[in-house]
Amino acid sequence: MNARDVVQLPARTANASRSPVKIAFRGVSKLYGGAGRAKNQTLALDSLDVDIRATEIVTVLGPTGCGKSSALNLIAGFERPSTGKLALDGNAISGPGPDRAVVFQHPSLFPWLNVFDNVTLGVKCRGVPAETYSARAMHLLREVGLSGFERHYPYQLSGGMQQRVQIARALVSEPKVLLLDEPFGALDYQTRIQMQELLLALWQEYKPTIFFITHDVTEAIFVADRVLVMSRRPGRVKLSVDVKEDKPRTIDFMATPAFMELQRELLHAVQEEVQANKTAPAHAMAA
Ligand code: ADP
Repeated sequence: MNARDVVQLPARTANASRSPVKIAFRGVSKLYGGAGRAKNQTLALDSLDVDIRATEIVTVLGPTGCGKSSALNLIAGFERPSTGKLALDGNAISGPGPDRAVVFQHPSLFPWLNVFDNVTLGVKCRGVPAETYSARAMHLLREVGLSGFERHYPYQLSGGMQQRVQIARALVSEPKVLLLDEPFGALDYQTRIQMQELLLALWQEYKPTIFFITHDVTEAIFVADRVLVMSRRPGRVKLSVDVKEDKPRTIDFMATPAFMELQRELLHAVQEEVQANKTAPAHAMAA
């Protein structure tokens, strides 16, 4: 962690993980809107400094519009930083790549393709041999509890099942980085917990680095090695908290005093930013 990180983050950030830095934000700002037209500009991220370590699961909380998705889109390579540097394994991110996979809140499956074909389309197009991706896809579909549904079409699946297909599709290319933008936000409570447990089980097997945006403080703690709370826009890291519970975890963790204490701390931090956001001007200008 460099000096800039220390300036932004409170003291409690030391992570037990000694794995190398996978993703490094260095003074990253993101400004949307045409150059010179200050009225239409939005500064979404302001000089963000964050290190995410290989195999680390980092969850991100913060008020709506604070720049969480912007940060994810920068890692995905869908957007470029306006200023600052963003690196993956020490190399500047210049665009999307198969080393990173994204799962969004709403499943974006092709309705005319069955489950197996939805999962394998991307790897097939990239020229991965059929015997390799078929075996991988079948294994993943088993892992996510969809054995027997390979030939079903999206309309024949529940929302939770569709989201499982999305996760299998994201993992089939064996990405080193998994980017999750409120992936379970539309699911009912019970399914959501199942998906969180599934995610932890998949992490145990594949050990990707995970950047996971959520609005749910309980979810943020349950799956994370570290929870980041972002400030209201322009987004910066307001708080970074380690979750020291060993993995694999069970839902019993949610009933422990340690969990509840984290929950209280994080709820307060998020609430503070939500309240401040209400009194902030509609647009934070660049200048
Ligand atoms: P969050 O994910 O925390 O809700 P976002 O990153 O989606 O926040 O958005 C941060 C700010 O940037 C918001 O004010 C949003 O309106 C603005 N924004 C996001 N994407 C764009 C875009 N493509 N063009 C212009 N403004 C954008």
